[in-house]
Amino acid sequence: MYIYEKKGRYIIDFQDIPAKRAEMPEIEVEERQGNMKEVETGFPEDVAVAEAKRCLACRRCLGCALCWAECKPEAINFDMPDEDFELEVDEVILTSGMQRKIAPIRGNYGNKHMNVVTDLQVERMLADTGPSDGLIFRPQDGEIPKKIGFAQTFGGVDDKVRDAALFYAVNEAIMAQKKIEGVEISFVSPDMDAFKASAGSDLDKVSGVNFVNGTVAEATEVGENKDIELKYEVGGSEKTETFDLLVLLTRPQLPPMIEGSAKKLGIEVNYVSFLGTPGEIVETDKAGVMLAQNM
Ligand code: SF4
Repeated sequence: MYIYEKKGRYIIDFQDIPAKRAEMPEIEVEERQGNMKEVETGFPEDVAVAEAKRCLACRRCLGCALCWAECKPEAINFDMPDEDFELEVDEVILTSGMQRKIAPIRGNYGNKHMNVVTDLQVERMLADTGPSDGLIFRPQDGEIPKKIGFAQTFGGVDDKVRDAALFYAVNEAIMAQKKIEGVEISFVSPDMDAFKASAGSDLDKVSGVNFVNGTVAEATEVGENKDIELKYEVGGSEKTETFDLLVLLTRPQLPPMIEGSAKKLGIEVNYVSFLGTPGEIVETDKAGVMLAQNM
């Protein structure tokens, strides 16, 4: 490692970050004929380790300027000052954005069990452009789950927020049914009866999903496969069900940044203020300030 100066900054040059990507070794063309041999042989250990070290892995910026020094098109400018712009507009439309808060469940504080995931993680898995190419799998062993449980572990929220959270999850369940043939899906929510009444006939169209009005008590890892045993209460009696994958519902809420913007605009909002007919724009008490609705 040595330190050099560039445009008035002192750069630490890590010598173990290779400047050029290593080339993947391949078997000769003659060797490939008439067989199913892998063409790429993989890196030897020392090359693989050197390649892995290419990543700066900053996580939190320390201002070391290594990225700045390495960026050939000089796209990074550490000296750019913050700028405030004043724009004259007739109307301001505020959109909600969303934060999803997870309520812990006994036996699984802090995502202790690998086969317990959140609805956000499932959303990423279901996306065809996501990290798993649209495949839902168990993080612990990569197997496709045949029995999935969705559990609502939070309560005491506005009915619209509850419905939004449950609708998101029901949509995920429908998509999971399309991707995994014969998958069994159950929902456990302390508000299921109220949700069913509110969703009305929309929920009747969903087949093959078991909707349970129950209060989730505990999630435990069981057996060699590390399946998830869920304990919940229904009508005063305790039930136990084992799932390949348990999905915890997250509670949608407003990001602090939106609350701050609303304050600056002189209005008070919460997440419910934005729940209505998707795409609709509603007026607020403040002239010229509107809210974009979503659900
Ligand atoms: S300055 Fe660049 S390389 Fe250094 S920590 Fe920040 S982002 Fe990473």
